[in-house]
Amino acid sequence: MSEHAYNPASARAEEFINDAEVRSTIKYALDNKGNRALVEEILSKPGLMKDGLTHREAAVILVQEDEEVWERVYSLAREVKRKYYGNRIVMFAPLYLSNYCVNGCVYCPYHMQNKAIPRMKLSQEDIAREVTALQDMGHKRLAIEAGEHPVMNPIGYILESIDTIYSIKHKNGAIRRVNVNIAATTVENYRKLHEAGIGTYILFQETYDKARYEMLHPRGPKSDYAYHTEAMDRAQEGGIDDVGVGVLFGLTDYRYDFTALIMHAEHLVARFGVGPHTISLPRICDADDIDSKSFENGIPDLLFERITALLRISVPYTGMIISTRERPSMRRRLLELGVSQISGGSRTSVGGYADEADRGEMTDDEKHSVQFDINDNRTLDEVVRWLLELGYIPSFCTACYKSGRTGDRFMSLLKSGQIANCCGPNAIMTLKEYLIDYASEATRKAAVPVIERELGLIPNETAREKCESMLERIEHGERDFRF
Ligand code: SF4
Ligand code: SF4
Repeated sequence: MSEHAYNPASARAEEFINDAEVRSTIKYALDNKGNRALVEEILSKPGLMKDGLTHREAAVILVQEDEEVWERVYSLAREVKRKYYGNRIVMFAPLYLSNYCVNGCVYCPYHMQNKAIPRMKLSQEDIAREVTALQDMGHKRLAIEAGEHPVMNPIGYILESIDTIYSIKHKNGAIRRVNVNIAATTVENYRKLHEAGIGTYILFQETYDKARYEMLHPRGPKSDYAYHTEAMDRAQEGGIDDVGVGVLFGLTDYRYDFTALIMHAEHLVARFGVGPHTISLPRICDADDIDSKSFENGIPDLLFERITALLRISVPYTGMIISTRERPSMRRRLLELGVSQISGGSRTSVGGYADEADRGEMTDDEKHSVQFDINDNRTLDEVVRWLLELGYIPSFCTACYKSGRTGDRFMSLLKSGQIANCCGPNAIMTLKEYLIDYASEATRKAAVPVIERELGLIPNETAREKCESMLERIEHGERDFRF
């Protein structure tokens, strides 16, 4: 018998992600495979659109094989997405600061033993060049990424880099929200990040299965499962109330990580009153020194679609993110089933945005410092046009962060549905800025009917009129309006 009992409100990893509870949930789900009455009860429960599913309920659905059940899940996922996100897709780009890392994650080419890749770290001058190039593409929201290295990437370097990023104002450009994806750290360091004005703190769990986690992280500070799993709790204690979670699907039995991911969200609600701001959905893919086919738990497209849709209805209030690991056709399908944030024009190497903009290509070192292979190589302009042609409205909005609407204030607004009167106008206005400042003629044309339609969808008449007047002011050169 384990000494740890399941307790979602506990501060201890082994209690809120309790192994026995995960395993008994999977067993309960498998015992109910084909139980149509239970499936029906779960998918028609009152409050599903608002409260989502518990980990037990979601696990029961996950193991079903009946296509009819999945059609129902897809339809509910589309409904949840429409209700909370409308047609908006939030755009962002990753910015890799450094690939020095002391950890040994076996699925990542930045692991310390890999001597084949060039190690690189951006200076503040490099960062200024990268940010200028990103602004010239039209980005307003970045996610910074760095390996864990106490000497090369100490917290002081990360803080200085955030300051540099916010300080660059090139033409009409500005990075208005910096999300941070760095290794688990102390409450004190999280407080410093909070004070530096970060948006979301993102940390992937990789896998919640402790035994598997320890096998995949044989060395370095990241090998401490509890310290890593409790990172979001420390981030909250340090004042960061927007946290982003995620697993790397393919590292272990997907049913384990799926169930535990929902338990993690339940834990954050139980302990801090607010669930994760975002869930990222990466799955293992090829990179230098990494062959995704050597991971026997890799998940095929159909299963990935099911997981995405089921997560969408399980945690309806949480933003869902996919990266350029996925090819365009898969991204399109996942956008339909629940994803609300995507990266565009991304480079997953250290440096490269500026060189590509100046010289048309990266240096060899930059090319060889990629963390994972990109399957969507389109420019931001091409991705924006593609989204518009699919009927979405690409949004560069960062209004909630800039208005201090974070954590539970953000969640309660989202749950009340009132956010439609903010997000809609903000998406239109930030898209308009993008179109005027950065877009190609073809993208501008594609946006005309979408903006027209979206204006008509703003529920509140006063908000609509205000938005129309701000659009005119944007045409006359003003920027950074928000609701
Ligand atoms: Fe380092 Fe992160 Fe890669 Fe692990 S996943 S080796 S911590 S950069
Ligand atoms: Fe996101 Fe807030 Fe902007 Fe809506 S208003 S798109 S929730 S930042």
